[in-house]
Amino acid sequence: MLSVIVPVYNEEENLEEFHRRLLEVCSLLKEEYEIIYVDDGSNDKSIEIIKNFVESNSHTLYISLYRNFGQHASVMAGFSQAQGNIIMTLDADLQNPPEEIPKFIEKSNSGFDVIAGRRINRKDSISRKILSNFMNKIISFMTGVKLHDYGCMMRLYSRPIIDQLLKFGEKSVYIPAFTTWLSKKTLEIDINHDKRQKGKTKYSLLKLMRQAFDLITAYTLVPIQLIGLFGFFLFLLGIFLFFYLMYFRIFVGSPSSLTSFIAILIFLSGSILFALGIISEYLVRLYKEVRKMPLYVIRESSFDLNDKRNSK
Ligand code: UDP
Ligand code: MG
Repeated sequence: MLSVIVPVYNEEENLEEFHRRLLEVCSLLKEEYEIIYVDDGSNDKSIEIIKNFVESNSHTLYISLYRNFGQHASVMAGFSQAQGNIIMTLDADLQNPPEEIPKFIEKSNSGFDVIAGRRINRKDSISRKILSNFMNKIISFMTGVKLHDYGCMMRLYSRPIIDQLLKFGEKSVYIPAFTTWLSKKTLEIDINHDKRQKGKTKYSLLKLMRQAFDLITAYTLVPIQLIGLFGFFLFLLGIFLFFYLMYFRIFVGSPSSLTSFIAILIFLSGSILFALGIISEYLVRLYKEVRKMPLYVIRESSFDLNDKRNSK
């Protein structure tokens, strides 16, 4: 059985077309299927539209989150209820064409843990592509797996890897990184990428930066170790400067020491702040862990009603 998980945040303008195209593709599959929409606290009509889909199609289910928890948290909520032995995730804005789903299914019984879409002809802004490129490099480094496109959320997962992900209770919000790290065999397949049909991207630059930071501190100790190295380097530089200024004072006369001290001061305070920033990232992680903040909170869903599943 295939579970398709679709995170939705204010996509009222795209949903009708998305659902129609998705159903068309799914109805042609030999596979049993279920579609799980996860409404990520939308403030538009998305949830009403989704509820209509659920009413008119017995394969369609929904989860509605309490407020906006982010795309990856929504997908996790979907995973927690998915019944399929293969599970796909897909965006609702039609940037990942549902028509590509059969390509993934075709490859799914050849023993892959993860099948990742690679967006050829990617239709996003330049700045977005540059940032993605940067993120790809980081994730490659962290997971030791070289993929071309970690950011593509059109992916197929095997059941075991999703079970592990759920068991692990991963709090970090970047699913491709964890699953790629765990996966023994990952296959990348080329898929089309379209322009977002309607509405704007739900990711601001700030949101993307936060995601990058979260990701780095979730998977590596490199930043915190760099602090030590950086501190050591500054220490050596301090000794060197001390002797240099002494030399200047004795042999050349008073140098423009004010300028050099100001420079040093700025340099040092900058580096201290930088170090503190990184340390606080780790503290935030601990803080979240200690408080046991949930990754998401469900407001309502077709699952607690229990009727759909039981009637199947
Ligand atoms: N999304 C979500 N919660 C969020 C942001 C996005 O559920 O906080 C959904 C969104 O509705 C879409 C998918 O995640 O289905 C990808 O979002 P978007 O298209 O804005 O991202 P981009 O394509 O720019 O990477
Ligand atoms: Mg998009």
